[in-house]
Amino acid sequence: MLNFLLKYLYNRIKILYRIWVLRMQFNKSSENSKLAIMQTLRIYGSMSRMKLTELTGFSRATVSFVISELIESGIIKETKKQQSTGGRPAVILELVPFSTCVIGANLDNNHWKIGAFDLLDNVIDETDVPVQTQSAVHTFEVLRTSINSFIRELNRPILPVLGIGTPGLVEKNDHIIKAAPPLEWFNVNVADIMSIDMELPIILMNRHRARGLAECRFGAGTNSSNIIYIGVGSGVRAGFYIDRQLITDSFGGAGELGHTTVEPSGPLCSCGNEGCLQMLCSTPFIEKQIRKSVRFGEDAGSLLPPDTDTRTIKAMDVCRAADNGEELSMEVIHTASNYLGITMANLANTFNPETIILGGPIPSTSRLFVETSNKIMRQRALPSIVSSIDVLTADLGEIGGALGAANFALDRYFPISNLENTSY
Ligand SMILES: [Zn+2]
Repeated sequence: MLNFLLKYLYNRIKILYRIWVLRMQFNKSSENSKLAIMQTLRIYGSMSRMKLTELTGFSRATVSFVISELIESGIIKETKKQQSTGGRPAVILELVPFSTCVIGANLDNNHWKIGAFDLLDNVIDETDVPVQTQSAVHTFEVLRTSINSFIRELNRPILPVLGIGTPGLVEKNDHIIKAAPPLEWFNVNVADIMSIDMELPIILMNRHRARGLAECRFGAGTNSSNIIYIGVGSGVRAGFYIDRQLITDSFGGAGELGHTTVEPSGPLCSCGNEGCLQMLCSTPFIEKQIRKSVRFGEDAGSLLPPDTDTRTIKAMDVCRAADNGEELSMEVIHTASNYLGITMANLANTFNPETIILGGPIPSTSRLFVETSNKIMRQRALPSIVSSIDVLTADLGEIGGALGAANFALDRYFPISNLENTSY
């Protein structure tokens, strides 16, 4: 009798457990469908139910069910739009911007920029957090503590994911920094560090690719669909974007432009190759060149007042001096931009993009750098190809990295069928 009772209870518990698992799975998939629909509306703007079904790849029934839940919770609303062909106005779905928000963070020049963005990617709040160390563990611990207090003070509903833009090469699993040699970071498991005292899952990406994604969707690239973003600072990195999506690759290395060879017998790079682009076009290169020239007795004019210590001169001073017509600085900027122009010509001939966006500290400080790179590209690439390419500078400023990382996190975490197809 006891045996029978135990067996009955065991079977009963097993069935209840199965029902609980199924319910949890259903809730999770319904939650993911909601977020995928929200992300589609964020990227592509307001649209009809039919268009949403087409873009997300969900069934009509799922779209209809999820939309009614989203309308009920005040996240999206219906509006009517007159069709150009006449007839009855179509029902269009659009996001209610302030209903919820997403968080992103980006590391640049030893400080974190953290931003909260509404559903239409307006900045709700932002903060800057300096980092006093080069240690990878401490840098991400600082971020973790800052994010926790940022969310507490924000006191709003947030989407359950955090996007992080970081220096270095990020593995395709979006959790590990494989290598950031200038910082001496190798195989840093950021997810492990962040998960100690924080519940949000993270998605990691290279900071230049994060900025590029934000520029494609909300900045300089909004009128193009085929874009290359090149970030030039302490290194050179690129992101490739088609239809506002970052093209992913087999490992995570697509866009390591700084390590392409532009001078066969050039200086030795930390990667072991000689003549890499970033040895000849980056902030360390500009600083090294100007110091060398001054040491060899060349006159730096207004750039260096008498008795200035050449070791204190910064690349940004050189960029500004070059734009003000200081000759030695112009020479250095011309050399660096010439190498970038050669690389852009190669990219133009290979990919034939509609637009190349130059971002990062050097292009955003020196107009001369951007104009010279553009000119050299046009001299060297096939005229029939290059005539249709626009070269623009990034226009989102510092918040761009955090915004791009937040967007990428939503792309990765809540997949939409047509986003998954964008790869080569
Ligand atoms: Zn290299």
